[in-house]
Amino acid sequence: MRYVSTRGQAPELEFGDVLLAGLATDGGLYVPQQWPTQEKLGFDTSYVDTAVSVMAPYVAPSLSVDELRAMVTEAYATFGHPDVCPVRPLDDGLWLLELFWGPTIAFKDVALQLVGRLFDHELTKRGERATIVVATSGDTGSAAIEACRGRSNLNIVVLHPAGRVSDVQRKQMTTVDEPNVRNVAVDGTFDDCQDMVKAMFADEVFRKDVGLSAMNSINWARVMAQVVYYVTAARSVGGGGPVAFSVPTGNFGNVFAGWVARHTGTPISQLVVGSNSNDILTRWLQTGVMEKTGVHPTISPSMDIQVSSNAERLLFELYERNPDVLSEQMAQFRDFGRFETGDTRLAGVTEVFDGAAFDDEATRAEIRRTHEITDTVLDPHSAVGVAAARQVRRDRDVAMICLATAHPAKFPDAVEAAIGIRPELPDHLHDLFERREHLVQMPHDLAAIQNYVRTAFDD
Ligand SMILES: *Cc1c(COP(=O)(O)O)cnc(C)c1O
Repeated sequence: MRYVSTRGQAPELEFGDVLLAGLATDGGLYVPQQWPTQEKLGFDTSYVDTAVSVMAPYVAPSLSVDELRAMVTEAYATFGHPDVCPVRPLDDGLWLLELFWGPTIAFKDVALQLVGRLFDHELTKRGERATIVVATSGDTGSAAIEACRGRSNLNIVVLHPAGRVSDVQRKQMTTVDEPNVRNVAVDGTFDDCQDMVKAMFADEVFRKDVGLSAMNSINWARVMAQVVYYVTAARSVGGGGPVAFSVPTGNFGNVFAGWVARHTGTPISQLVVGSNSNDILTRWLQTGVMEKTGVHPTISPSMDIQVSSNAERLLFELYERNPDVLSEQMAQFRDFGRFETGDTRLAGVTEVFDGAAFDDEATRAEIRRTHEITDTVLDPHSAVGVAAARQVRRDRDVAMICLATAHPAKFPDAVEAAIGIRPELPDHLHDLFERREHLVQMPHDLAAIQNYVRTAFDD
């Protein structure tokens, strides 16, 4: 398998290089040169066996099947449920796919537990070390820390906006006491943190000096790892027939993995994109116009984004993999904050995708509704997906699988405001609030933070 950039001006690479590169040198995203076809698997195939079968074509020839199997087995042994990503029924033909059984109780663990091991393996093979720098508005930081902790050839520095992440989220990041983990609370916003990380990547000398690398959601390996649960859930709920999925969406990585599952052979008749008030994608699906607006803070903060970067991978397919046309559209988007897809092209997307957006009040109403009917407590992100599923579902005879992307205890204030119940943290985090925090507070100053990254791991 080789990978090409969506912008067509970067070298073709194999999996190991794509993993460490993240973004392509031409600003594009890496995608497989050809889509493989999924191997047919029996109904009782385990999560791990399914994962190996689904991912093996993408990682060859960088990794052998045995190497992949070893990492997949270890990664999913960290999950607290024997099915790894279990499904259970809600009401009205709706199902809930629980993606929060990993160490940080949000779905990002599903990909990052594997990606941490893939990085470690690839760096060891090359005799190299890397420094991961992550900007986070909450969930990614802790999932990346859990993926990197204790790994001898990886250091990680996480920048979060001081006072703007929830207590649970901050504690999950800062109570990890490891020599290769550092947390910086930045006096600024998430965008300030993100801009500084981008500036560090643009600084050639700095990048080389510290071996800078990223694990952000545009990394192909993260999308790849997420394809697996679409396959396992479709099989267990649909029994070989078609199913639909509803996905609370931010950067479009998760729902794009659903598109990949469908494109490579999983019978999926509908993919629903659920948005909060940051509705760039649902507006695009309705009008064919992709247009940036400001970011609105909501009670589902992991979906508070202005641009859904992974949508570029779908657009690449939409433009028949023509990198020149796509590059032109992306340049227009960068310069004017807007581009239009046109009806005929958009039809290829709306054939399977639908979207719906919900504000905070509608999100709380969905937490209440699902709790009243089923006794299930949804976190605010998952509630957006369930609300979208109820609203735009096409065929009531087709099972609709809603992705639960976080455990409700990760967002206790929003849940309590909706139903008056404060969800409890799972056992492995029960003493989170008694653990000691390790963090430094720094001004929004690029030079100072670069200097910190350079020296933070010196003994
Ligand atoms: C990251 C995240 C999302 C959004 O996923 P994308 O892949 O960015 O679309 C949704 N819910 C939760 C809880 C998240 O952490």
